[in-house]
Amino acid sequence: MEGMDGMIAGNIARIQDEIAEAAHKAGRDPGDIQLMAVTKTHPFEDVLAAYQAGIRLFGENRVQEAVGKYTLPLPADMKLHMIGHLQSNKVKQIVPFVQCVESIDKVATAEELNKRAQVSGKSIDIMFEVNTSGEVSKNGFSEYEELSDALGAVLELAALRVTGLMTIGPLGGDEGQIRNAFILLRSMSDRLSTEYPQVELRELSMGMSGDFPIAVAEGATIVRVGTAIFGRRE
Ligand SMILES: *Cc1c(COP(=O)(O)O)cnc(C)c1O
Repeated sequence: MEGMDGMIAGNIARIQDEIAEAAHKAGRDPGDIQLMAVTKTHPFEDVLAAYQAGIRLFGENRVQEAVGKYTLPLPADMKLHMIGHLQSNKVKQIVPFVQCVESIDKVATAEELNKRAQVSGKSIDIMFEVNTSGEVSKNGFSEYEELSDALGAVLELAALRVTGLMTIGPLGGDEGQIRNAFILLRSMSDRLSTEYPQVELRELSMGMSGDFPIAVAEGATIVRVGTAIFGRRE
């Protein structure tokens, strides 16, 4: 293997090693952490190179790009998650492609997703995006009460299953601030689990190229990595 494919495979192997190292340090099983390849701005050949290198979980943040790039049917064991802000009028288009929408930031989006999933006879996982850094530019729930109410509301949506929480760490924050954001996500998840014991919140999607080892140390089950796998985006 050479060129781009070799670079992608090498990067994935190195990141998997770093995940394993961070997991061992934290007394965790590396098998409990999935590496998501975030493929935004990168072509489908790069998606396939990552798939060949063992990646099964992929992430895209824009509906238009995702549906233009990924061709159906996807390989049976390939999973695609939507990780960017989802507008209600784009929900219909994305339903055939995704197994999970990690970036649910309001109940109305979940309701629309439920409706469209039911029409397609599909069941879709969702996660709530939480704004753990207080940055105004970020989407997501920032108050526990809002998040808790939203969880209560979506439990009635039969085609959806809530699997966990997702956050983006503070951009340009120092290590302490980043760690605190991830600790906050975990504590919100713990609190929700106490309040809603019937819901299994097993996923904490947190950590990107610059901060995934910290996220693993703080309990991430999915790390979303783009740049460190595929190189810089244009
Ligand atoms: C782009 C993106 C990532 C990956 O970011 P990198 O720094 O390139 O690893 C992760 N999560 C979300 C929501 C993104 O939009």
